[in-house]
Amino acid sequence: MTTALCWDDRFETHDMGRGGLYLPADGLVEDDVHVDNPARIARTRRLISRVGLDSVLRVIEPRHATVEELLRVHSRDHVERMLAVSAAGGGDAGGDYTPMDASSYELALLSAGSALTALELVMGGGASNAHAMLRRSGHHAWRDSGYGFCIFNNCAVAARAAQAAWGLERVAIVDIDAHHGNGSEWIFAADPTVLTVSIHQDRSFPSDSGFVEHVGEGDGLGTNVNVNLPAGTGDPGYLHAMDRIVVPILREHHPELLVVACGVDASLFDPLSRLGLTAAGFAHVAGRLLAVADDVCGGRLVSVQEGGYSHVYAPFCWLAIVETLARVPERTEDPYEMFIAGQPCCRELAPWQRAAIDDQARVHAAHWPL
Ligand SMILES: [Zn+2]
Repeated sequence: MTTALCWDDRFETHDMGRGGLYLPADGLVEDDVHVDNPARIARTRRLISRVGLDSVLRVIEPRHATVEELLRVHSRDHVERMLAVSAAGGGDAGGDYTPMDASSYELALLSAGSALTALELVMGGGASNAHAMLRRSGHHAWRDSGYGFCIFNNCAVAARAAQAAWGLERVAIVDIDAHHGNGSEWIFAADPTVLTVSIHQDRSFPSDSGFVEHVGEGDGLGTNVNVNLPAGTGDPGYLHAMDRIVVPILREHHPELLVVACGVDASLFDPLSRLGLTAAGFAHVAGRLLAVADDVCGGRLVSVQEGGYSHVYAPFCWLAIVETLARVPERTEDPYEMFIAGQPCCRELAPWQRAAIDDQARVHAAHWPL
């Protein structure tokens, strides 16, 4: 029972430029590093080493994805445009907030390849589950464009590879990033073989997608599941959504592989969301997903990194997830627990939170036995 960690030092070198969060500062305040900068992932990698987890993980360098593997998900026009943007020295991958430089195309191939390396280890028996740490993130990218810091949809590429190379008939992608996995939804909206579940802050990003009524289309009707969490939901509300909606649907769908779009930007300290999860909360979320994988697909779980922008707290959230996947008996203590302990959103399920989630369960009950 080994957990693999896919990692390449080149992810530490990728510079997304400067600004205010992800916008140009325009001289009003001193500019800062882009929120998607190397520190968050580099600190996570070092934290995992410092707590001694490398000795129980199978740490492996990823390969690059091939163009053919990308074309199972993306149009040739998109792939060639991303290559051209990097070849020209930089530009935008789509939507104006997705900067690229000369190295971005190659790192996007390495990111998709990291998800594929994790998949190959899990499907080939080299690991029971795997976490792919990477940059660039993927879940906002769709067939014809990058978007929201994302260039290629790494989870979608892994899901299609699982079908093409191993003949899987049912794959589930569960997106725990604080923002809607719009790219994954749009890629698989009409495809009943890939269940897409996104749990995100209500109308955060993109603000016009991810509604609970969007349940897929055509043959895929019912196999797209959106759960909208109100700002301030916290651990108890998030876990209620898992228990009330996500876990029962996963058990009913019975996937042969669980792919997790593993963003931790729902954390209490993240600048790009207001959901308020703690590292312990992420451990519980990972524990529920691991339990489903154990019960329905022999533990086959591939975790693929997405957003997470608190340079100091995101590393503890990803550490909590990796420790859970690796089934270490005692998790590393959260140094921010003293600050967190007294905040009600972290500890108590409020009636309005329960009601908001139960209302959505009634929508999904049209397609699933909830
Ligand atoms: Zn996000």
